[in-house]
Amino acid sequence: MSELSGRLWAIGEVASRSIRSLPEMASGIKVLDLFGSNTFDVAAMKKKLPKPIFNSLQETVRRGSRLDPAIAHEVAHAVKEWALAKGATHFCHWFQPQTGLTAEKHDAFLTFDDDGRPMERFSGAQLIQSEPDASSFPSGGMRTTFEARGYTAWDPSSPIFIIDGPNGKTLCVPSVFISYTGAALDNKTPLLRSMEILSERALAILRLFGNQTATRVVPTLGVEQEYFLIDKAFYALRPDLVAGGRTLIGARPPKGQELEDHYFGSIKDRILAFMQESENELYKLGIPIKTRHNEVAPSQYETAPIFEEANVASDHNQMVMETMSRVARRHNLTCLLHEKPFAGVNGSGKHCNWSLSDSDGENLLEPGATPESNLQFLVFLTATLRDVHRRSGLLRAAIASSGNDHRLGANEAPPAIISAFIGDQLNRVLDAIEKGEAGGAAALERISLGIRTMPEVARDQTDRNRTSPFAFTGNKFEFRAVSSAASVSTPVAFLNAAVAEALGEFEQEITKRTARGMSVQDAALEVVRDTVIATRAIRFEGNNYSAEWVEEAKRRGLPNLRNTPEALAELIRPETKEFLARMRIFGESESEARYMVRLERYIKDIDIEVEALRNLVSGHVLPAAYRQLALLTRAGAGRAIKGALDRMGASVESLGDRLAEMHSAAERAAGEHEHEERARILAEMVVPAMAAVREHCDRIEENVADEFWTLPKYREMLSLI
Ligand code: ADP
Ligand code: MG
Repeated sequence: MSELSGRLWAIGEVASRSIRSLPEMASGIKVLDLFGSNTFDVAAMKKKLPKPIFNSLQETVRRGSRLDPAIAHEVAHAVKEWALAKGATHFCHWFQPQTGLTAEKHDAFLTFDDDGRPMERFSGAQLIQSEPDASSFPSGGMRTTFEARGYTAWDPSSPIFIIDGPNGKTLCVPSVFISYTGAALDNKTPLLRSMEILSERALAILRLFGNQTATRVVPTLGVEQEYFLIDKAFYALRPDLVAGGRTLIGARPPKGQELEDHYFGSIKDRILAFMQESENELYKLGIPIKTRHNEVAPSQYETAPIFEEANVASDHNQMVMETMSRVARRHNLTCLLHEKPFAGVNGSGKHCNWSLSDSDGENLLEPGATPESNLQFLVFLTATLRDVHRRSGLLRAAIASSGNDHRLGANEAPPAIISAFIGDQLNRVLDAIEKGEAGGAAALERISLGIRTMPEVARDQTDRNRTSPFAFTGNKFEFRAVSSAASVSTPVAFLNAAVAEALGEFEQEITKRTARGMSVQDAALEVVRDTVIATRAIRFEGNNYSAEWVEEAKRRGLPNLRNTPEALAELIRPETKEFLARMRIFGESESEARYMVRLERYIKDIDIEVEALRNLVSGHVLPAAYRQLALLTRAGAGRAIKGALDRMGASVESLGDRLAEMHSAAERAAGEHEHEERARILAEMVVPAMAAVREHCDRIEENVADEFWTLPKYREMLSLI
């Protein structure tokens, strides 16, 4: 047998790859010419729409109010003209079902007039609403067959855009996806709902502090996206990556991330070519990509845009993931968005930088220059702490997935326990408030002095705690535990709702006091103080990765929801359902449906992985071991040879045993009718059994002849580019 194993073929492929560089890009495209050229943005609208229509639409977008159907026709006409001029042939409602991906069903503009002549049409009705045959999207039982219809509706707060295909262009209308009974079937709707209530509650606080001009408060969001890139040939030869996005086996490479030489290292040409092409595509879509760099693990990278309103930022993050995946293929690369594609090196996250901005552009989490504005800042800060404390279980549920289970708590990832880091300086301020050192106006002055110097300290990156799942970083919070592959909508929606809840309470508590004759300042300070005391448990400045923290967190009564089934159960606790309903995010049945969708997804993920692992063992690992055994048998009867033969034989036996254990655990899970129980068995028995199988596979990989090993190895996938 002399033909190249798949793996050796792939290495040859990689070695002969050329760098894809596009002439128009090498010649220096101007970002300003590209930026937004494929979006129907404010400039395009202004140009194309009659003034009153433009104003009405702008008003809708700015106020987040409902679109006046009377103007839909005119808007549709303008959109169509714009799209046709750009060469679009099709349109679609672009929405986000609960698969975590986006969905689109393209329709041609083509139609026929009364005389049978072809023409291109796009009506107001088509712009506003469409009814995809959507019975196959996950709904968690929200759409029983008799009312199987759902529809998509335009979300005018997110710009319409065009995607370039290899041989044509498609107009995409960002949309929500709801059932005819009004239940949310997608990821966008809860986010929009949460933004509405958050704005209401935050405005009420601003009014208390005398702000009469702001008309709206929006959450702002900047999403740092981490990802891996490996050569497509390697990817194609790894059934585990193809099936589930992560490697299920693979011996540690001699060189992983120990040298810490990848982080911020110089970017290789082939990768840079990919990044530049992706960024140009994203610029066309009006996505303000700002940073790119190598991440900690080999072959791991990060990109981050300039922050935007949460809803737009969330749509844009979906487009970032899609565009990178698409452009990677053009470069013979595969973009891995999974949270933990490789064991033993860092996983990928999606840090959600989150703050609040009023309609005048003021960042409400920016410490102010005056005692009054500082007090307002402290209200927003501690309100956030109050609800991260109270809703930590729900925030944990928001980020739960089979993939994130491998990351939370692992190398360089925040643990499954949600806590908040706010930094030394702010801690001192809160401590002073707690001790009552900040009683009256004079003390307020003193605190403000502390806070006034804070921005400087906060911008000093050295005192940042990179182990915290939720960290205050100067003028925003950074929710770091969010998973790299998932939509950010749910975590951000829950965070918004939680903060809205706390702000509503703050307003009530402050007004109760002012009604008794207290000044707003004194009242606010008192409420802040109460909150500081009540939320002590959630503040943690130490190393979140340490074993002591797990113990400490237990003493503090913070939940430690280690796996997805445990975390998801938070969604259907009566108290949670009541909260989500009160905040108008999900009705009770919507919460239950979400729970079902997420739990089923978990079960399917693990089922797929088990099957993939079984195939890897029978199709790759055992055949390699048998060939090694044959080689050793032929090699003679020396002591060393005999020893190697015995060890390999024993490995094969142990692998067989572990495989049988995994098999019976999986059978047990499959025999369960209740989803809860099935998921629990998968998490507690099957996942550990898979890890045990893996251990033996990796030992075998390390001990067979290189030419017998058909799967691309870690060292190749992670370092050959
Ligand atoms: P780091 O890696 O140091 O956290 P990055 O530059 O990678 O910093 O990412 C920071 C992100 O935070 C960017 O997307 C940035 O636009 C965003 N950001 C900055 N200010 C705000 C804000 N007020 N609200 C939301 N996001 C913000
Ligand atoms: Mg970063």
